[in-house]
Amino acid sequence: MMLNILLLPVLTDNYIYLVHEPVSGKTAVVDPAVSEPVLMALRYHDWQLDYIFNTHHHPDHIGGNLQLKQATGCKVIGAAIDQSRIPGIDIPLDDGDTFAFGTQTLQIIATPGHTSGHIVYYCAESQALFCGDTLFSMGCGRLFEGSAEQMWQSLQKLKALPGSTRIYCAHEYTQANARFALSLEANNLDLQQRVAEVTTLRAQSQPTLPSTMAQELATNPFLREHSASLRKAVAANDSDSPAKVFAKVRTLKDNFR
Ligand code: ZN
Ligand code: FE
Repeated sequence: MMLNILLLPVLTDNYIYLVHEPVSGKTAVVDPAVSEPVLMALRYHDWQLDYIFNTHHHPDHIGGNLQLKQATGCKVIGAAIDQSRIPGIDIPLDDGDTFAFGTQTLQIIATPGHTSGHIVYYCAESQALFCGDTLFSMGCGRLFEGSAEQMWQSLQKLKALPGSTRIYCAHEYTQANARFALSLEANNLDLQQRVAEVTTLRAQSQPTLPSTMAQELATNPFLREHSASLRKAVAANDSDSPAKVFAKVRTLKDNFR
């Protein structure tokens, strides 16, 4: 039975994911920026919170940790190498570890780049990836604590997941990302189609997530360093490595208005 995944929009553009495993009845929350909307949703569904899964230490991802832990007695899960920066951490995990969430298994993948201790949670059975601020729809996280090479390596791990994987990122940045993607690959038909879909969704104040890995491979400029049209758009030389092309895309995005 698949995970039941609810999306809670909070702050300006954050998403908190409330995740319920229906066989065991276990419930988790991914990156609780704040506590109150989570507590309200728990009451509404009559669920008990068992776990917090943190992807990284930024305030808009851990802000609700301690209040939720106090209110529910839940356990906090985060990256072992970031233990000092994850408030209330109980279960530190490393790259390659698995975590039994009720009857389902979460795989921990380290994705340094946005922060040095960033991890993502992948559930093969439910085809779901909780990727925090590493991968966004048509975008990727800014490089606050890592190099472009490191972030590129991290994204290679995510690219290898099945195309059907649903991408649950922590921010609704899709429309701004789409403008940048179009500036590079205006003739990409998949991109045009996705942008039309996103425009309609946002006009109705609907979330654009989850997307899928297949959709991202076809439209996300940060995953398309092999595309001839993208390489041309960023003035890549034939000798430029994929990581170098990625770095060029990241720099262009940082300066894009
Ligand atoms: Zn962040
Ligand atoms: Fe964030």
